[in-house]
Amino acid sequence: MNALPHSPDVPSAAPEELELAIVGAGFGGLCMAIRLLAQGERRFAILEKGGEVGGTWRDNSYPGAECDVQSHLYSYSFAGKPDWSQRYAGWREIQQYILETTERFGVRPYIRFNQQVTGLHFDPDSARWRVILASGLELRARHVVLATGPLHRPNLPRLPGLERFAGKVFHSAQWDHGYDLAGKRIASIGTGGSAIQYCPRIAPAAAQLHVFQRTPAWVIPRDVRTYGESTKKRFRRFDVLRRLHRARLYWTNESRVWPIFHPALARGLQRLARWNIRRAVGDESLARKLTPDYTIGCKRVLISNEWYPMFRRPNVELVTADIREIRERSIVTADGVERPVDCIILGTGFVVDPRIYMQGFPVTGMPGHELARDWQAGAEAFYGISVTGYPNLHQLVGPNTALGHNSIIFMIEAQVRYVMDCLRTLRERGADYLDVQAPAQAQFNERIQHALQDTVWSSGCRSWYQQADGRNFTIWPYSTWRYWLETRRVDAAQYRFGQAQKGTAASHVDGHVD
Ligand SMILES: Cc1cc2nc3c(=O)[nH]c(=O)nc-3n(C[C@H](O)[C@H](O)[C@H](O)COP(=O)(O)OP(=O)(O)OC[C@H]3O[C@@H](n4cnc5c(N)ncnc54)[C@H](O)[C@@H]3O)c2cc1C
Repeated sequence: MNALPHSPDVPSAAPEELELAIVGAGFGGLCMAIRLLAQGERRFAILEKGGEVGGTWRDNSYPGAECDVQSHLYSYSFAGKPDWSQRYAGWREIQQYILETTERFGVRPYIRFNQQVTGLHFDPDSARWRVILASGLELRARHVVLATGPLHRPNLPRLPGLERFAGKVFHSAQWDHGYDLAGKRIASIGTGGSAIQYCPRIAPAAAQLHVFQRTPAWVIPRDVRTYGESTKKRFRRFDVLRRLHRARLYWTNESRVWPIFHPALARGLQRLARWNIRRAVGDESLARKLTPDYTIGCKRVLISNEWYPMFRRPNVELVTADIREIRERSIVTADGVERPVDCIILGTGFVVDPRIYMQGFPVTGMPGHELARDWQAGAEAFYGISVTGYPNLHQLVGPNTALGHNSIIFMIEAQVRYVMDCLRTLRERGADYLDVQAPAQAQFNERIQHALQDTVWSSGCRSWYQQADGRNFTIWPYSTWRYWLETRRVDAAQYRFGQAQKGTAASHVDGHVD
């Protein structure tokens, strides 16, 4: 049960003290909480701006929303689910899994919903973080775990005249299920991961669907097999079989890391993908428009069996001309064509650059450290977790830890274990905080950027993996097991340890505590 009373509605003079404040109740924040509870740590709270757990899978309920990593892998290693219905589960089943896991591990009492964190400030004297909430409340915590997710803030494009549009407009992550799309003339903007999933599902009922494409994505066939009752029964009865299945999926995905480093392999895959487009679309000129001009893998490879065949429908049009203007009831493209529409769906993805999505969320660390300034040239961290100058601030799915080939849950679990090791290291040293050394962080990022140079991600495309100057701040450029191996234990020599000095400056000693 929750050992902590919930925050009172009225701000009190003395802010509540926590050992850990976790920001976000998606896969990351929940994993952190489960691991803390397993170690008997109860002095924490999850602060979640939404009204339910799930993050990505709470918000993305659009038709056809499914994961593109196999469900047996896209779930916690310690909470296997023997009865996934299909290879790649839909959002409803994933969200149900998250809800059940939250209950199973007793996490819910520790979550404070509708609590948006709007600022984090480290006080070196007390070695505590001040956690500022939108409600005006303030908490204090020794550690903060930022599990705010890499893809949660919808990217709302500035389309000329959009504010004048008199029809319906919504973003794919804020799907309006009350709005009936049947018989409507729909414009869908964007051809990324979400659009390729919902467009084929809404096309049959629409009067007309105009798909506005800026850059085509490589879309390869999806394994749509379901798990039969006998397989589920076997997995339920013999957990080892489920684990073996999971291991097989993991190593299959890991083998996909090779085309990333060997462009010749990527080119082979690309020929197959090109053939698949021509076969599925059945129209040479349309196939050409749908075929990317960059190397496969440079942007996230998408999977769908429905995307290309959808363009055979008479009521679906691919529009590649730029949008010039949006009028009250229509969209005009650069070639002067005006298309009347009732509804615009923004399948325009998410704001991924933390320097942008963390605007209005000031984070200040040791004197002179302001995250917005420290990250001006680019977001970087040590293994995506620790940032120099921000003691006891731990990130999940931070810079350069996203993947193009395997499950992010694997990375989250490795990061959570690393944070647990940070807590253990601090306890053993009798210190109040740890702060990664600047040279350690710099060397780490030099290595990452160097490794990224010869990969498919640097083969010339513009992708959301990169910031404006082309620097890739998103991707982990190696195998996931290498990440697991390198984050197995905290290397104390890479950190500075310090003590709270109530009233005076904190003592700060390299590699050890005074
Ligand atoms: C449509 C879609 C499909 C995806 N499919 C896949 C896939 O197939 N495979 C894969 O590996 N990854 C996929 N991803 C990436 C996905 O985001 C991660 O897999 C995973 O869900 C990340 O979990 P998380 O806990 O880090 O973040 P999230 O699930 O985004 O959770 C973050 C939580 O933090 C909360 N929050 C954010 N800011 C604040 C704040 N200031 N105060 C309080 N609370 C806050 C949010 O409300 C949210 O609940 C997909 C993403 C999207 C959008």
